Amino acid sequence: MMQMICRTPSAMVSFPRSGMRRGSCVWPGARQLCLRKNLLYGFMRFLSIPLKTLRGVSRSIGISSFCRVPKMSSTLQIEVIPCLSDNYAYLLHDVDTGTVGVVDPSEAVPVMDALSRKNGNLTYILNTHHHYDHTGGNRELKEMYGAKVIGSGIDKDRIPGIDIVLKDGDKWMFAGHEVIVIETPGHTRGHISFYFPGSRAIFTGDTLFSLSCGKLFEGTPEEMLASLKKITSLPDNTNIYCGHEYTLSNSKFALSIEPRNEELKSYAAQVAHLRKKGLPTIPTTLKREKLCNPFLRTSSAEIRQSLNIPATADDAEALGIIRRAKDSF
Ligand SMILES: [Zn+2]
Repeated sequence: MMQMICRTPSAMVSFPRSGMRRGSCVWPGARQLCLRKNLLYGFMRFLSIPLKTLRGVSRSIGISSFCRVPKMSSTLQIEVIPCLSDNYAYLLHDVDTGTVGVVDPSEAVPVMDALSRKNGNLTYILNTHHHYDHTGGNRELKEMYGAKVIGSGIDKDRIPGIDIVLKDGDKWMFAGHEVIVIETPGHTRGHISFYFPGSRAIFTGDTLFSLSCGKLFEGTPEEMLASLKKITSLPDNTNIYCGHEYTLSNSKFALSIEPRNEELKSYAAQVAHLRKKGLPTIPTTLKREKLCNPFLRTSSAEIRQSLNIPATADDAEALGIIRRAKDSF
């Protein structure tokens, strides 16, 4: 299948689209450096195997310090894979080493199809949380490719096939790309987000959506607010890859409570246009979400007026009221 590829300085995003040329991934370094990186990464990976085996379920912190390949980052290709009715899995591909991972495979078949288009193997499965629509493909993909499943230690009994458990602040390496684990509870207790600083990308699962946040199944508004604040502390140009294509319906709710927000009106029109063409609205950016997402705008006078949120209510109380209004919208 042909793919459209959008390039950012250090990450590439691709998703299926007919009529567009398939882009190629170019790392602006010399071929020799690429070979050196492959050899070094392979050696580091070889060294890390006994560590993982001995520990069984290993801690990432040991692996990260062992496998660090400093100042040799390269292009990470990110492919959007639509799954189920409105889920997104994301294929991560380091073109220099051929290492491939997938974030939140709801189901195995669309991921297998994407892998076969690349003639790729699957090394890692990254799960943001335990819900079936984020982990449903784990076992089949693990069986087929021998991939290692990575997720939160809090959810080690709820994530199918988990091999490597991580916690807040852990640094883990994906083929030379640093991955920082950020615990983001609220939707579920064990929800984590995977931040790739070198690629300016974060995988937020069901914590932060474009124009919304996840439902509070296992957390309080205070917990969700704290999780969202961790994400909003990242650079504004961070690309946000969330677990669902909910943006169009989210835009309708957002406009209903902040109808005079010009940025939001403009983005909502853009979203409607993309969805009409069957294209993803993801990734979004943190800058845009700060300007448009009502759950990041709890101090907006217009939103507070629309939902009768008292001026004395703090941000967590306001978030709780906005969430309840959204649940019944
Ligand atoms: Zn979920």
